[in-house]
Amino acid sequence: MSTVQRVSEQGPSGPNAPGRRPSARRIVVVGNGMVGARFVEEVARLDPEGERVHVTVVGAEHQPAYNRVLLSGVVAGDYTPDQIRLPVPQTPGVSVRLGVGATALDTAERRVDLDDGTHLVYDELVLATGARAAFPPITGVSAPDGEPGEGVTALRDLADCERLLALARPGAPVVVLGGGVLGLEAARGLAGRGARVSVVESSPWIMRRQIDQSAARVLADCYEDLGVSVHSWRVASRWIPGTGLVLDDGRVLPGDALVVTAGVRGNIELAKEAGIEVEHGVLVDDFLATSDARVHAIGDCAQHPGGGAGLVQPGWEQASVLASRLTGAAPQARYAGARPLTRLKAQGIELTAFGLVQEEELGPQVETVTVSDPHGRRYAKLAVSEDRVVGAVLLGFPQAAASLSQLYDTGAPVPADRLALVQGLPTAAAQEDAAGAAPALVCRCNAVSRDDIEQAWLDGARTRESIAERTRATTGCGGCVRDVNALLAGMGGGRSTEPVG
Ligand SMILES: Cc1cc2nc3c(=O)[nH]c(=O)nc-3n(C[C@H](O)[C@H](O)[C@H](O)COP(=O)(O)OP(=O)(O)OC[C@H]3O[C@@H](n4cnc5c(N)ncnc54)[C@H](O)[C@@H]3O)c2cc1C
Repeated sequence: MSTVQRVSEQGPSGPNAPGRRPSARRIVVVGNGMVGARFVEEVARLDPEGERVHVTVVGAEHQPAYNRVLLSGVVAGDYTPDQIRLPVPQTPGVSVRLGVGATALDTAERRVDLDDGTHLVYDELVLATGARAAFPPITGVSAPDGEPGEGVTALRDLADCERLLALARPGAPVVVLGGGVLGLEAARGLAGRGARVSVVESSPWIMRRQIDQSAARVLADCYEDLGVSVHSWRVASRWIPGTGLVLDDGRVLPGDALVVTAGVRGNIELAKEAGIEVEHGVLVDDFLATSDARVHAIGDCAQHPGGGAGLVQPGWEQASVLASRLTGAAPQARYAGARPLTRLKAQGIELTAFGLVQEEELGPQVETVTVSDPHGRRYAKLAVSEDRVVGAVLLGFPQAAASLSQLYDTGAPVPADRLALVQGLPTAAAQEDAAGAAPALVCRCNAVSRDDIEQAWLDGARTRESIAERTRATTGCGGCVRDVNALLAGMGGGRSTEPVG
């Protein structure tokens, strides 16, 4: 059953929203996830009276949009589902239809068919359909119809979260299939709830795409300390409900539940069946247009040459660029691609990684500085080329993670004392100021700089909540909460212990 918020919708051939101004162009957004919802928020900000555009959003999930990034925090018990809701704009130019899926797209008629038997007509269509969990073809893991097998769940939406928490009682054995960022976050959260967790990764090491092998060894030790067993370079051959996961070497890892975190697949079928060009995502250019100029794609379902799918910051940037274009606020706005940075959200483990870090990526012109302290569960690797940071892995070095990611973002020159930098000594900020480089980003998810936060403070924001309200800092992955609190403390302001979201 569908839920309608604010303006109720049309019958099969009526206008998309009865309250729409006749001159307002009709934008239909398919997908009410993190990026679709941000697009709508941006449109409402740029066209608050709905004079230029009217947006109708359809979302297959039954609940209002929420911060998906914080689902691992829900698993860990740090947030309740209510605490991760995203803001819903209350403006005349926006209609949201929940629990409604788009089933087909007719680009000639500019029409979207919905699973409640109605349809929407658009002037511009925005695909923000995101991605879904990929289930590997292993006996017992998924049924022939693609549904998860008994005792098996993904971790992609709130419904998965509820299923997982029902399966993973304290003391229960749980297997996590996939030792990437998501799997490791889930494993940490479940271990914190008292489950006995094993992680299986088919690559030679965990977080294979983000960190090097030496870092992964130390990271695996951090997990073993928490009682989580890590099995890298092991292929799963069968899931037996009520027993566990059988590995290729014959071992059986006991499990009441199997959490599959083995990658995602873009929801591209609507576009593909309508004849729009797709590869693993819907192909878009710098204007976020697809091969059909009236159809746009943003977020995890989009494939831009400069990347960005799978991370919220590029998706939010795309949402902002497209809203500026379609409202006419900045018709020439462009999306230039992403510079991904990974921060593991696992309580008690400080891990940040970005740029070039794998041995095979580092050519002879790249200098590296490495500090390995397995006993102290710390590891740092810095890669520098032509005096600029080009990559780093920082496990257990939060100060260095902050200063190096700022140097990476701003492109400021690296101080001569590389070792001091890796240890987190305060040489970076001085260099950056001296170089007159771009102001350092504090909240990467929302591209909020230190200058923006200082300005918000000058404008009267004295708590983290009011800083968040003015700048959006801390409302993404939550990784910058400590930095914002520190800035506030430095400026003589307060802080807050309220959850983010
Ligand atoms: C547990 C977890 C932790 C994460 N942590 C991080 C992190 O720390 N940092 C980071 O950058 N990223 C993280 N991510 C990834 C991040 O959540 C995604 O990049 C982001 O959610 C993408 O937003 P989106 O709107 O494109 O897709 P989604 O958020 O997936 O939303 C797509 C929406 O479209 C709906 N939909 C799909 N098809 C249709 C249809 N035909 N009709 C109607 N509705 C449809 C779906 O139901 C869904 O609600 C994490 C993801 C998960 C699951």
